[in-house]
Amino acid sequence: PGTIRMKFAERVENLPPYLFVGISRAIAAKKAQGIEVISFGIGDPDMQTPDPVLDALVAGSKKAANHKYPETEGLPEFRARVAKFYDDRFGVKLDPATEVINLIGAKEGIAHAPMCFIDPGDISISPDPAYPVYEIGTMFAGGTTHFVTLKEENGYLVDFSDIPTDVANKAKTLWINYPNNPTGAIAPLSFFDEAVKYCKEFDIALLHDAAYTEVTYDGYVAPSVLQVKGAMDIAMEFHSLSKTANMTGWRVGFASGNPEMVNALMRVKSNIDSGLSQANQEMGIAALDLPSEWVENNNAVYQKRRDKVVSVLNEIGVPAVAPKGALYIWTPIPEGYTSAEFAQKLLDEVNVVVTPGNGYGPGGEGYIRLSLTIPDDQIDEGLRRLAQLRVNS
Ligand SMILES: *Cc1c(COP(=O)(O)O)cnc(C)c1O
Repeated sequence: PGTIRMKFAERVENLPPYLFVGISRAIAAKKAQGIEVISFGIGDPDMQTPDPVLDALVAGSKKAANHKYPETEGLPEFRARVAKFYDDRFGVKLDPATEVINLIGAKEGIAHAPMCFIDPGDISISPDPAYPVYEIGTMFAGGTTHFVTLKEENGYLVDFSDIPTDVANKAKTLWINYPNNPTGAIAPLSFFDEAVKYCKEFDIALLHDAAYTEVTYDGYVAPSVLQVKGAMDIAMEFHSLSKTANMTGWRVGFASGNPEMVNALMRVKSNIDSGLSQANQEMGIAALDLPSEWVENNNAVYQKRRDKVVSVLNEIGVPAVAPKGALYIWTPIPEGYTSAEFAQKLLDEVNVVVTPGNGYGPGGEGYIRLSLTIPDDQIDEGLRRLAQLRVNS
């Protein structure tokens, strides 16, 4: 086998290594030594997709119409169900024909959305730390990202006064995400109001990643950016059923908001993927039809885990605070360590994997993230190990 002589595109050459590849390697190396590590790394629900959702797939697979190409924008029934969800949940009225589109998981829509707004050389504004796809999707479209640091003392909300005016004047998109991955932060409606006003002032497309609005704790109910007056003029919101209904493997998401923005995404997608399989869209309808008690009970499992994890971290001197939403404990680490060093220490000394915060951007340095998506017995074993850690020695 010779060396490949063709040159890959810069968008591929410039890709950072996927965050969890290094972590998987470290786990494999421990395994080779006969050591089972407990991983609080990846955020991927451990619990099963509920039966009514699986039943919809079985039934959907037998329908001849579902064996054909879907319409890019999605089944009318799926979009109508999404519109009903917005009305029931947020009091927002959407036209299912023009203001909703299905996605092959929220990630797909987030990655493709920059194609609608970003030309080569254009600027996108993204929080730091953040879900990496906002930056990568922008890079794929030829744009560059201006990062705004999310500060703990500001509740990890974007501080719009931190964005230089010349950047705002040039920016085409602004990404926000609440409840937030990785910080667990939540945003009040007043913050969304501020975001909408800011984006209107500077003519920026506001893109809200709402993957965790249904994964919340302590009775907290997360708002949609589309509840804000005027949001429909400039905003699009990305939703996912992955975390809400334990169905990351089935890739069901949707975007909603300004009809021209939704239409632009539909036109981009129609040239790339032709939309989500219809049987999977029927799973999405079934997931949206789950009784609210099902979602509450599912969240209650995470809430219990959250409380256990926070309490053990506090005992060993890590100042974690319980988040109101999303699936992660994001916490500053004790002084004297970088994120990578502290994560390495946990792996070396107690065989526990956590994600170093700087994997979500330089703003995450000094933090680690623990995911709550591992079975209770593993959480308990992981916490037993963490409790043995001697932090400042
Ligand atoms: C999990 C996640 C997504 C992706 O969801 P999918 O629908 O599975 O693609 C998007 N954004 C954030 C912040 C996430 O954590």
